Amino acid sequence: MFQKFLTGKTAVITGSNSGIGLGVAEELARAGADVVLNSFTDRDEDHALAEKLGKEHGVTARYIKADMSKGDECRALIEQAGACDILVNNAGIQHVAPVDEFPTEKWDAIIAINLNSAFHTTAAALPLMRAAGWGRVINVASAHGLTASPYKSAYVAAKHGVVGLTKVTALETAEEPITANAICPGYVLTPLVEAQIPDTMKKYNMDRDEVVRNVMLARQPSKEFATVQQLGGTAVFLCSAAADQITGTTISVDGGWTAL
Ligand code: NAD
Repeated sequence: MFQKFLTGKTAVITGSNSGIGLGVAEELARAGADVVLNSFTDRDEDHALAEKLGKEHGVTARYIKADMSKGDECRALIEQAGACDILVNNAGIQHVAPVDEFPTEKWDAIIAINLNSAFHTTAAALPLMRAAGWGRVINVASAHGLTASPYKSAYVAAKHGVVGLTKVTALETAEEPITANAICPGYVLTPLVEAQIPDTMKKYNMDRDEVVRNVMLARQPSKEFATVQQLGGTAVFLCSAAADQITGTTISVDGGWTAL
């Protein structure tokens, strides 16, 4: 239904050489958008990933290195992209520790990459969206943007901050053809999550199914992971005309987590 309706639009997706960011980039490209992939590395395989994606979907796909922990590099990413009709703030990291033992450098890195980067890229992208007369800001927050878990103080603080930033961005652009929303995933099956399964099986002496159901998805009532394709599809929907009046809100893709 959404076939190629984003032809001529440029999407910049931060943290998109793997996982959810790559999945979102792929679905936006499938819908016809030119895409800019990003991470902090500058390997041949990063550029090859963009080339493959571009060829597969018949769009222009580029990879631009920029470290989302650094404000000037966040802004330079948007500048180098040249156009940014769709901004997906997705880059993120995690660290788990009790608040009184949380290493300050980990706190600072999580706030910088998961929250501050979205401020810098949004600030740089809004003038381009205004000049183009259309724009979408899509922030990948988390169920942890709406609820909390112990030992994730920096992550939960950053993701709640992202939801707040989303609301302010939406209010400041409310009378323009620009929307800002946050997608709040529950547990998503990414290569990183998949890689944790064997160790967790050993640790708890459980089979794969038990680990997934009782450990990883303990708080996800559907007992199924969300997929990167579903998150990409949600981003594509937010870019559609059906979503023109959806702004300043959160869309949970969490199998019922936040209904509990
Ligand atoms: P991932 O580790 O596969 O992806 C994170 C991406 O961010 C990677 O491309 C990585 O290279 C990039 N990145 C990390 N540090 C960076 C930096 N300094 N500069 C630029 N890029 C950087 O993880 P993911 O699960 O795909 O996570 C993507 C987003 O989704 C994150 O914001 C995460 O908090 C959020 N999220 C993930 C889940 C989940 O279950 N996987 C659930 C809710 C929210």
